[in-house]
Amino acid sequence: MKRKNLGVNTICTHVGEVKDEQFKGAISPLYMSSSYAYEDVAVKRYPRYFNTPNQEALCKKIAMLEHTENALIFGSGMAAVSTAMLAFLHKGDHVVLPQTLYGGTYNFVVEEFGKFGIEYDFAEGFTEADFTSKIKENTKVIYVETPSNPLMLLTDLQMIANIAKPRGIITMIDNTFASPINQIPAQFGIDVILHSATKYMGGHSDICAGAVAASEEHIQTIWNIAKNLGGSLSDYTVWLLERSMKTMKLRVKAQNRNAKRMAKWLEAHSLVQQVYYPGLKSHPDHALAKRQMMGYTGMLSFELVPSIDTKKFMDALNLIKPSMSLAGVESTILSPAKTSHSLLSAEERGKQGISDGLLRFSVGIEEKKDLIADFERAFAAVTSEKLQTEQA
Ligand SMILES: *Cc1c(COP(=O)(O)O)cnc(C)c1O
Repeated sequence: MKRKNLGVNTICTHVGEVKDEQFKGAISPLYMSSSYAYEDVAVKRYPRYFNTPNQEALCKKIAMLEHTENALIFGSGMAAVSTAMLAFLHKGDHVVLPQTLYGGTYNFVVEEFGKFGIEYDFAEGFTEADFTSKIKENTKVIYVETPSNPLMLLTDLQMIANIAKPRGIITMIDNTFASPINQIPAQFGIDVILHSATKYMGGHSDICAGAVAASEEHIQTIWNIAKNLGGSLSDYTVWLLERSMKTMKLRVKAQNRNAKRMAKWLEAHSLVQQVYYPGLKSHPDHALAKRQMMGYTGMLSFELVPSIDTKKFMDALNLIKPSMSLAGVESTILSPAKTSHSLLSAEERGKQGISDGLLRFSVGIEEKKDLIADFERAFAAVTSEKLQTEQA
């Protein structure tokens, strides 16, 4: 099937489905077999070779959504990230990474790269000079993550590709926060696209998975090491992920719309100091977001005025659940200072713009009026309590 003939919802619903020749069922049958008859071919079918019927089928869907030739599915987002990095970075090579990085990826780099003799530097900001000033003779990869977590700062993908291409550097992006519904990095010349499919691809907070999309040549390079590292995903979860992805565009569009409405509502609230959402005109990267994204995602963060106790505020929420992960159809909230960034010193958090009053909000598909009612209840709870203590 050719992409140019199909719309995104059609790709999500149909591309790559496994044909049920035996019973003519409407959806892909699930092949749990870990043993297949051997044929006279170089590569045998085996789950850890990433080539079972369900894996191959879902890879076609992901590749078509990301405008790449091929894809691979992994047991977690970190399996995808670590395998892809180790595929291109060898002993003595150097990688430039962004200043803000998903915690697991940061840990992988600082805890493991030394053992492999891989060198790295973090860019100090998001401008061209921030990246070029870190490039060395032996730089093999530039890795980016846009929008960033939790302040939703953007990196210009065209700029990154323009820096990398003439120098023969491979570019990689963690596209998890955007999803292929909101951002197609391959259109800007980014080489390797990574996902924690645990987030928007799965979308129901019940799957842990990862994905890599790239050219046939790059996927071959990644596969060569992937089969040795062994981070493949169970076919049962592959099948569940295929089911989830059928509604990905519907879900993500609804989350985009809700997030934009909630960002505007929060921005107008007197107890909210700042809202970080690329869809707001007040966001420093709004113009870039319009250029390189088709939607502004369901992720935002906001800062309460300092007089509010964020824990009490979160405890007073009913519908919006305090939760570590993100991108499910249910709205969740977390305090970066108390969770993802809790190991940093207060000073380091301050440098990264993460205050104690900052909350990251993963907007679900609930009705806007119910989300607003929930926030209003929490604002009322923290302000009435404050009045009581002032009176006492
Ligand atoms: C969750 C996440 C990951 C890691 O994915 P896992 O599925 O938890 O291994 C990587 N990058 C980003 C941006 C994430 O949000």
